[in-house]
Amino acid sequence: MPYDKNNKWVKSPGRTAPTNHVRPGTSRLIKDDDMRIWLMLQTWSDFAQSLYDYCLTHGGFTEKQMLSAEKMRIKVDPEYDPYGEGVWEGVYMDDEDKYIFKISIVTKNNDEQVRSIRKRLIDMPGWSDIKLASNKALLFGCIKTGTYRMLNDDELIDIGRRTGICCDCGKVLDNPKSIAAGIGPYCAKMRSQSNQ
Ligand SMILES: [Zn+2]
Repeated sequence: MPYDKNNKWVKSPGRTAPTNHVRPGTSRLIKDDDMRIWLMLQTWSDFAQSLYDYCLTHGGFTEKQMLSAEKMRIKVDPEYDPYGEGVWEGVYMDDEDKYIFKISIVTKNNDEQVRSIRKRLIDMPGWSDIKLASNKALLFGCIKTGTYRMLNDDELIDIGRRTGICCDCGKVLDNPKSIAAGIGPYCAKMRSQSNQ
C-alpha cells in the first residue's frame, strides 16, 4: 500500500507505480496543471509534495491521488469549490465573450444527482465536458466573483440570432423561424415554462 495507517503517502523506491489506482480499463494518468501547481506550493505538506513529485515523474495523477488532493484542497483552500455550492444551473459566458458554459443537474442511474458542466466556443455548435474537479472549481470561482456571468433570456436570444446556434442546447438553428427567434422551439418552451 502506498499509504500508511495515518493516510500518509509512503514512497516505495525502486517499485513501479501501483496500477490498481488507475481507472479500470485505462492506464492513463490524469493531467491537471492547476492542481499540480497548487500541490507544489503546499510546501508545508509532505503529502502534497509527494503527490507533486509523482506527477512530475509520471506525467500525471492517478484517480485516487486526484481524489486525495481534492479532499486536502477543499480543507485548506477556501477558494476551491469543485462542487459549485451556491452556483445555479444555467448558461454562462466568460469575460471575453468567447466560451459558453452550461451547468445542469443530471440524475444518474443510481439516483445520485451530479452537476454536468459543458463548454463550447460561442460560435461553434456542440459541447465538450469539463470533467476535472479543479477545472470545475476554477469555473465556479469565476462565476462567484462575477467574472463569468449567467446569460438572461434576452442575451441568449441575441447570441442565438448572431451565431445561428441555440445558446441553450448548443445545436445549429436550422430553420428561418428558429434563426429569427434566436432559440430552438424546444428550448424556448422549456425556458418559458421554467420562467413562470
Ligand atoms: Zn436549443
